[in-house]
Formats: sequence, C-alpha cells, structure tokens
Amino acid sequence: MVTLLSVRNVGKSFGGVRANDSVSFDLAEGELLALIGPNGAGKSTLFNMINGQLCADAGSILFQGKELIGLKPREIWALGVGRTFQVAHPFNSMTAIQNVQVALMSRDRTIFNFWRLGTHYGREEAMELLRQVSLEDQWDKPCSTMAYGDVKRLELAVALVHKPRLLLMDEPTAGMAPHERNELMALTKQLVVEKKLAVLFTEHSMDVIFAYSDRVVVLARGRLIAEGTPTQMRVDPKVQEVYLGAGNTFAEHVG
Ligand code: ADP
Ligand code: MG
Repeated sequence: MVTLLSVRNVGKSFGGVRANDSVSFDLAEGELLALIGPNGAGKSTLFNMINGQLCADAGSILFQGKELIGLKPREIWALGVGRTFQVAHPFNSMTAIQNVQVALMSRDRTIFNFWRLGTHYGREEAMELLRQVSLEDQWDKPCSTMAYGDVKRLELAVALVHKPRLLLMDEPTAGMAPHERNELMALTKQLVVEKKLAVLFTEHSMDVIFAYSDRVVVLARGRLIAEGTPTQMRVDPKVQEVYLGAGNTFAEHVG
C-alpha cells in the first residue's frame, strides 16, 4: 500500500472550540475512506484544511510527501487534490458540456470567454468526461433542467478535469434519494478502481458507508476516536457511544 495522504496531529480551533484536536490518519492510493461522526465533529473543518480553504493551527498534512499546510487552494488543486461541494453549484444556465468546458478552460488557464463556449474548445475531452459519468446523452441539457443526481455526477466530471489523485467529497449524497446515492457512490467506486483515485468522503447514511467504503475514520468533538473496517466500526464501543450520545445507536443508523 502506497500512502498518498498523511495527516499528523492536525489541530484547528475557532475561539474556544477545538474543531480538530491532534487528528492523525493515513490514506492509501486507491482507497475509499469514509470520515464519519456526529454533526459538529470537525469533518468539514478537516476537509477544508486539506484543500487549503482553512489553515491548520498545528500538525502536518503530507500529500505524496509534500506539505500542504500553508499552500493556497489553487496550489493544492494543482498538486492533484480535487473536491466536490456539499451543495452542487454548476452554472445553471449552461449546458452539461459547457460546464465541463469552463473547467477545462480554467485548468488550461485560457481566458474565460462566453463566446468560446459556442466553439469547440476542449469538446472531445469534455465529452469523454461526460461519458465517464454516464451523462453523454444529456450533454446539451441546461443544468437547470437536470435531475439532482445527474447534477452531482456532472460535478464529479468537473472535479475529474485536472486528473486528481485524491478526491475530497463532503457529504456527496446529501439531499439524494437512496437509489441516486447508490448510483453516485457506485460510480465513485468505479472511478477509484479505473483511475486509481483515492477518495475521502463524509457520509451520514450507514448503508452507503457499508456498501462502498474500504475503511472508516471516526471523529467526535474534534478527536479521532476510532478507525478500521466498516464491520469493525459497527461493533466498536467508542463509536456506539458517540452515536448513542447523538440519540441513536450505530446499529439504528445502519438499519
Ligand atoms: P462537521 O462537518 O463534522 O459537522 P465542522 O467541521 O463543520 O463539523 O464543525 C466543527 C466545530 O467547529 C463545530 O463546533 C462548529 O460550530 C465549529 N466551526 C466550524 N467552522 C467554524 C467557523 N468558521 N467559525 C467558528 N466555528 C466553526
Ligand atoms: Mg460538515
């Protein structure tokens, strides 16, 4: 196993709130790692430190051996760390393929120009990316008319534009119907295998975690309290306790 991301003793406080407190874990190439924990556990904070939106107060975040703390989001993106957003926000008035074309222009540092969207800029590459997320039939559809699950797959195509090695997905299936969740995660899993991507994702649905994650890291009140396979996490007393504290047993989440 080749370590891609190494998080070591990472800390972040907001005033008196320790959103992350000495968090450490590794992520290997080709691994789908779920980051779970009750609301307020510090998951989004950790994501935002990895992608450079937030600067950690302490510790180290190594990506392929390179320190990410202190780098700007764009620099981290250029190193091969992609992300999707909790709320999908494509340019609604544009079609599916135009959204991918804009991302290609940004990657290639081509001056953004609406007139070029009518041209063939990156069209073949954009179409191939749409094919990879099974949206080729909807290439000409305005995003405003696409189903939510399809918009999320488009977002994935956009994230793949610069060929990331690691993809960060914060609550990718939020707001989705169960069948859409499964489609998105099955597609993600397929991309992990085909492109040797690694994925770090947060997820509330235990069904999704059990079906698709290779390993699980559990945060509670800013601290990493457990890590292991989904099956190990299901029976871990510390994990059950934090979910009990949240008013639910872990088994109920699963069920
Ligand atoms: P999660 O994503 O696991 O729900 P977050 O990382 O969003 O958790 O939040 C962890 C803790 O940090 C919470 O107590 C939250 O209120 C606090 N927090 C997060 N972001 C900020 C911020 N920008 N300013 C102040 N407090 C924040
Ligand atoms: Mg969050």
